[in-house]
Amino acid sequence: MGLHKPIAHLNTIARNDFILADNICGDLDFEEGGNPVVMNRILAFRDPVLCDSFVCESMGYSPEEVEYITRAAQLGVGSTDTASANVVYLNEDLSDKSRFHMTGRVKKLASYTDSRDACSACFGSLIYALDRLQDRGELKKGLPPLAIGQGHKGKKGEIGVGRCTACFAKSLKGCPPKALDMVEFLENEWI
Ligand code: SF4
Repeated sequence: MGLHKPIAHLNTIARNDFILADNICGDLDFEEGGNPVVMNRILAFRDPVLCDSFVCESMGYSPEEVEYITRAAQLGVGSTDTASANVVYLNEDLSDKSRFHMTGRVKKLASYTDSRDACSACFGSLIYALDRLQDRGELKKGLPPLAIGQGHKGKKGEIGVGRCTACFAKSLKGCPPKALDMVEFLENEWI
């Protein structure tokens, strides 16, 4: 049976109406750390399925890739439709000042970027998106650097992600864009 079916059904009886998720500093691999990715935010949800769907998309995965999420949605626990969610941003962190340092894998992925004053959630999302492309064997040398951050505002360039790079020839909308959208954009426009 695996874990997916029990997790989905458990949520029909142990209902969660308010979920707080610590998204201050995640990791590329596992929660004990090793390759920290700073996002500097706390997430709050009233729908557990929406919570897990949003988190998937923040890490460059589609909710459909995680069986228990779609099963829970089918059981009426909640919705996977993040596009229709009412998202409220409070005290947005627009600073690039992080107390955390990049380590091995994150540093390597960051070498594909041209980051100038990027907000943590934006830059972290790009790191997750690049990690998905790495998983798929799609990252290669010689690609043009991906611009990201407020230092690119009003400037021209080849390719960038986020509203700050709106004047670039190719730019992904969003502030910050989701990692899942970044993956699709980069597959179509960059690699
Ligand atoms: S697009 Fe938005 S979130 Fe991304 S760096 Fe610019 S201001 Fe920050």
